[in-house]
Amino acid sequence: MRITVADCLRRASELESISDSARLDVELLLGHVLEKNRTWLFTWPEKLVAEDAHSTFLTLLKRRVQGEPIAHILGEREFWSLPLYVDSSTLIPRPDTEALVETAIALTTSPDNILDLGTGTGAIALALASEFPNANVVAVDKSPQAVALAQRNLQRLQFNHVTILESDWFAALKKQRFDVIVSNPPYIDEHDPHLAQGDVRFEPVSALIAGEAGLADIRFIIESAQKHLSLGGVLLLEHGWRQAQAVQRLFEQNGYTKIETRKDIGGNDRVTLGWKPQ
Ligand code: GLN
Repeated sequence: MRITVADCLRRASELESISDSARLDVELLLGHVLEKNRTWLFTWPEKLVAEDAHSTFLTLLKRRVQGEPIAHILGEREFWSLPLYVDSSTLIPRPDTEALVETAIALTTSPDNILDLGTGTGAIALALASEFPNANVVAVDKSPQAVALAQRNLQRLQFNHVTILESDWFAALKKQRFDVIVSNPPYIDEHDPHLAQGDVRFEPVSALIAGEAGLADIRFIIESAQKHLSLGGVLLLEHGWRQAQAVQRLFEQNGYTKIETRKDIGGNDRVTLGWKPQ
């Protein structure tokens, strides 16, 4: 049987019921198998695909049809233009979270030290490390598997100003203080119907769900960060698109100033921040 690149890409139709990005998904799967980028696929639709490559492609396609996230199948996801290894022990980095990185960069000039709480793949910490080569960046996660994954990503990127530690939020940090603290904590309510759809079904509950209608970890971080921020330091948190008001209130109740909320690329409220007074 003579199978071409175009034949493989037509299989996108099989993904349409489970994915909003069926065509892109198929391109990424085929590109992964053939070790070619998407431009190559568009340029050579008539190229023949060898039998073993085709059968590997069909195996990956089947996993995707069953709902497995593309990032898990490929074992990688790009975030802030950095290639990151991904596995099922952490959240998959999302474009929404780039709003957190953008805001941190826009608001600070040359922080001496940055802390990322619940780093997962290390995405936020590594993105900030790429932008602030002179900062000392600390990233923590309570999951040993997440710490190991973040370490692999750090080794791949070869930044020598990042430290990754196993820590339940601030627990392992003692009295250390930071100019910038960032986090994308769990913030989804356990009854949210969104949890039964798409990629989140394959992500760890511990990275997604929080008590108090999703606000428990956010509340804990806002309360505890005061003790770990430098004077004039800033705390930036990602949250759900309908949580901005509640999160702003928590910042107010805990003595932060110049509190504001920023939107993600989808136009939803996504990041709220506050400063520790000088
Ligand atoms: N933004 C993610 C989602 O809604 C959840 C991320 C999180 O809980 N930190 O799928």
